[in-house]
Amino acid sequence: MSEKVYDVLPQAAANAYINAEQYKEMYARSVNDSDNFWAEQADAFISWFKKWDKVQDWNYHEGKIRWFEGAKLNVSYNCLDRHLEKRGDQVAIIWEGDNPQSDKKITYRELYEKVCRLANVLKAQGVKKGDRVCIYLPMIPEAAVAMLACTRIGAVHSIVFGGFSPEALKDRVLDSGCEVVITSDEGLRGGRPVPLKTNVDKAVAHCPNVRTVIVVRHTGRHMDMVAGRDVWYHEEIEKVSAECAPEEMDAEDPLFILYTSGSTGKPKGALHSTGGYILYTAMTHKYVFDYHDGDIYWCTADVGWVTGHSYIVYGPLANGATTLMFEGVPTYPDAGRFWQVIDKHQVNIFYTAPTAIRALMGQGNELVTKTSRKSLRLLGSVGEPINPEAWEWYYHIIGEDRCPIVDTWWQTETGGILITPLPGATKLKPGSATLPFFGVVPALVTNEGDILEGATEGNLIITRPWPSQMRTVFGDHDRFIDTYFKTYPGNYFTGDGARRDEDGYYWITGRVDDVINVSGHRMGTAEVESALVLHEAVAEAAVVGYPHDIKGQGIYAYVTLMADIEPSEELKKDLVRLVREEIGPIASPDVIQWAPSLPKTRSGKIMRRILRKIAANEVENLGDTSTLADPSVVDHLVTNRAVKS
Ligand code: ATP
Ligand code: MG
Repeated sequence: MSEKVYDVLPQAAANAYINAEQYKEMYARSVNDSDNFWAEQADAFISWFKKWDKVQDWNYHEGKIRWFEGAKLNVSYNCLDRHLEKRGDQVAIIWEGDNPQSDKKITYRELYEKVCRLANVLKAQGVKKGDRVCIYLPMIPEAAVAMLACTRIGAVHSIVFGGFSPEALKDRVLDSGCEVVITSDEGLRGGRPVPLKTNVDKAVAHCPNVRTVIVVRHTGRHMDMVAGRDVWYHEEIEKVSAECAPEEMDAEDPLFILYTSGSTGKPKGALHSTGGYILYTAMTHKYVFDYHDGDIYWCTADVGWVTGHSYIVYGPLANGATTLMFEGVPTYPDAGRFWQVIDKHQVNIFYTAPTAIRALMGQGNELVTKTSRKSLRLLGSVGEPINPEAWEWYYHIIGEDRCPIVDTWWQTETGGILITPLPGATKLKPGSATLPFFGVVPALVTNEGDILEGATEGNLIITRPWPSQMRTVFGDHDRFIDTYFKTYPGNYFTGDGARRDEDGYYWITGRVDDVINVSGHRMGTAEVESALVLHEAVAEAAVVGYPHDIKGQGIYAYVTLMADIEPSEELKKDLVRLVREEIGPIASPDVIQWAPSLPKTRSGKIMRRILRKIAANEVENLGDTSTLADPSVVDHLVTNRAVKS
């Protein structure tokens, strides 16, 4: 496929902290003089109660990763207290409700007070340093308050996305051993209530470890409160003081547990720790998004995902930023909502996911061009490979050729962004996450673990730790070692495949499991999908391999058409022709199944492992489906399985 290059935009370069030369120089230092580099960054970005004895100490064979050992700090202090003098009256959080009429602004001083009060409530409920607290909230400011209140007293939060079922919530509460759950009466998404408290009641009935449920009043619907267990947030915070001294935490004390989204299997409880995490998220937030004082920054993720942790709450607040929190969905009241919110709050930096971009692209341009979007300066993407077609739309239509796109590759496990452009330094290629951030050393290896040099394709590993790397799988260190450090001993295995081009740019091809081998030709499913969505009738496509007698693996494509398009045999032929032209005959889909919708995780990622099972006709054993957003999608695909030629 054609590879376009977009030069660094002059207006982005003029404003930016880091230009191309500085990137090269700082990157080299971050690798060759790592301890000194990170010590300087730690001094610049974080306020420490006590400095470290040692910058880093690690052994990947044992899954041992430590940063800034001996240092003392508190995350909520870094996100709040230290800003009060200069920015007490600055807005910390802009909240935009599901209903376009409801919004609010919270200053740093107000946020500080709310956090101290809830921290005191938690203490009064017997929560101590190291105890786990589950947060099951909608996208309301209290979610950020709850996170910071935990960090203030050294409790470890475990956020469960509000879209998860009681069953999924129960599993996570039990696995992490939470004693307190913070929830709300209901959530609101797309005008519809989400019964959060009722879900908690169902889940907690099977969790003897939970003794307190704190309920935020949000929609105001009547709730049955369980005596001796349930308390109202708004009542409890009135009973306590608005001051709470921050607990001095060790740099390596745990900060939070977060379960991965489950697109490849049973979710793992990723445990992140304090010092390295807050440093790395603050630093990446500032440099990747080129955040300057006064900018309005909006990340559309949910706080239930790592993107929400690192880039709605911790990174931005550590930097004293104004961060926008959006409760709703991109399509309510209509599919122009994102662009309307950008105008309403004069958003300068906008960070979203390819799944949203593709969905909104499918709705046509009119809803976009009706809005101004003049405030926008920078766009970001995360969560999946962004196909060049969607990238170009994002760049030209949303950003009007004026805003660089940072395509940020990272994972729950990595805590922060690892491969990304820097807006003032990196030329962009649509579909490429480009180059490693400071201190990150990626490499590509063969299945046997041999390092590949130059322009090539292989399995993506990282050869040494960075400060925000997860420290263990909660309660199961062996699983941590087995999952990440056994495949290529001495290295962190990401599970993703990637291509590296002549300029050293990385192109994530998807999970290694998603690389298919057709008659000895390896190809990433993302490439075939990108070709399919070039067709104007196609909204989305997912491609998997299936066992094929002659080719080894055949190509099975699930295709979602644009609204109003009728499926036809003619269209199938068109699509096959398109893929042959774009990639070559070897990539022609053997089977195309029309899919009104695709099975996705609640964070919007396509669950290809389920599609693989359907393609292979192993429909009796679909594996863990508890993290699916809408299980009925799978039934439809199973019933309408295409018969293979
Ligand atoms: P699980 O690990 O349970 O299967 P998950 O991997 O979907 O869930 P996350 O940690 O949220 O959970 O997602 C990380 C993965 O998302 C990466 O490994 C990669 O496959 C994909 N990804 C994220 N950002 C990008 C990006 N910019 N380009 C390509 N792929 C991306
Ligand atoms: Mg993963």
